[in-house]
Amino acid sequence: MGSEKAKEVVAVYPGSFDPVTNGHLDLIARGAEIFDRLIVAITRNLEKDPLFDVKERMEMLETVTFDWKNVEVDVFDGLLMDYARARSASVILRGIRAVSDYEYELQMAMMNRKIEPRIETVFMLPGEAYSYLSSRMVKEIARLGGLPKGLVPTAVEERLRAKFS
Ligand code: ADP
Repeated sequence: MGSEKAKEVVAVYPGSFDPVTNGHLDLIARGAEIFDRLIVAITRNLEKDPLFDVKERMEMLETVTFDWKNVEVDVFDGLLMDYARARSASVILRGIRAVSDYEYELQMAMMNRKIEPRIETVFMLPGEAYSYLSSRMVKEIARLGGLPKGLVPTAVEERLRAKFS
């Protein structure tokens, strides 16, 4: 038995979160359960035009993750691996919904490993109910005024309604 104190495992969960959905939340719940600390990190450098600006996305994420004491919300610019190193993270958390996510996620994880081999990407599967849910789909349906219940947290539903009313 080593006498060293067990190291705290910090994970970064990066994404656009435009906006956070119940699928993201499902993953955050699973991540918060197995990692000591989970940093939900909003990517600022989006190519596409976001619906919600970074401040709005941050506010929504902070509201819906308030109850988890080991979950923090942050924003980052630039290379994910630089950010993860700066936050002393050893894990990147990503979600895989269907086979269609796999190719992109694999490419990104491999590239990130090339940049920083000491940081592992860990993939988690959401509950089945969320396996088809994406922020993009939520925005499209909300824009047309037909968002069904249970896809996004109430706070997000209200913001979406306000955007499109
Ligand atoms: P990005 O633009 O980086 O893909 P997203 O906010 O769309 O950002 O997603 C962030 C992460 O969350 C990705 O790993 C994505 O696969 C995962 N994710 C998104 N929606 C779901 C969901 N419904 N269930 C599980 N994981 C999800």
